[in-house]
Amino acid sequence: MSDLKQATRRIPKPKAAAKPRAGVPQKAVRKSLLKAPKPLDWASMIEVFRRLREANPEPRGELDYTNPYTLLVAVALSAQATDVGVNKATRGLFAAADTPQAMLALGEEGLRQHIRTLNFFNTKARNVIALSRRLVEEFGGEVPNSVEILETLPGVGRKTASVVVNIAFGDPRVAVDTHIFRVANRLPLAVTRTPLDTQAALETLIPDEYRLHAHHWLILHGRYTCKARRPECWRCPVNDLCGYPDKTIP
Ligand code: SF4
Repeated sequence: MSDLKQATRRIPKPKAAAKPRAGVPQKAVRKSLLKAPKPLDWASMIEVFRRLREANPEPRGELDYTNPYTLLVAVALSAQATDVGVNKATRGLFAAADTPQAMLALGEEGLRQHIRTLNFFNTKARNVIALSRRLVEEFGGEVPNSVEILETLPGVGRKTASVVVNIAFGDPRVAVDTHIFRVANRLPLAVTRTPLDTQAALETLIPDEYRLHAHHWLILHGRYTCKARRPECWRCPVNDLCGYPDKTIP
């Protein structure tokens, strides 16, 4: 084979341009891509919270704790675990150690024995011991009332820090977990790409009178009604306000 022929063979054929899918008008595709769900208007958002409050005036979280420190540990342990599972593990743990000093005395191996039923228990045990040491050495064994400081503790992110200051100190932060992220984007209260963006939006949007309990109302709504795989829209108290396009019926 001549050099010219070989060179010609190596030149790849240009790929054919993607053909429009049969039966789908391209104008409609472009329109649907541009169409993002619009957040609820102010009056509808207020009505959502009014109804959630009416149904549950004093919402409570489902993690067991006895003081700000055990709350911090319980929330840190709850990553990738159910509240029921965490409560089972912490029942014995908090009886043995409910202060950072007692946790250090219990030690990493002792702590590991209590929480070995939880996902990532090795990492969690290491973090709880490290954060307990910092609380003792830098904060006199007290949990600081500051999201910014709590975020610097090992294994504590924005969500954990916000839950702790909300519940323990009454700071109206709206910690966003997977349930709240889903509910906020379905209604939608705020159309965002990340939980941190959702938190920033909700803390700006939600009026003072609803902000302290907004975290619990939304998390409980997401956990028991607006479920991930199949929301139970037919019994949802805010069904008529919600803009989710795939509402379910019984
Ligand atoms: S109507 Fe359905 S999708 Fe909308 S908030 Fe209620 S449960 Fe969630």
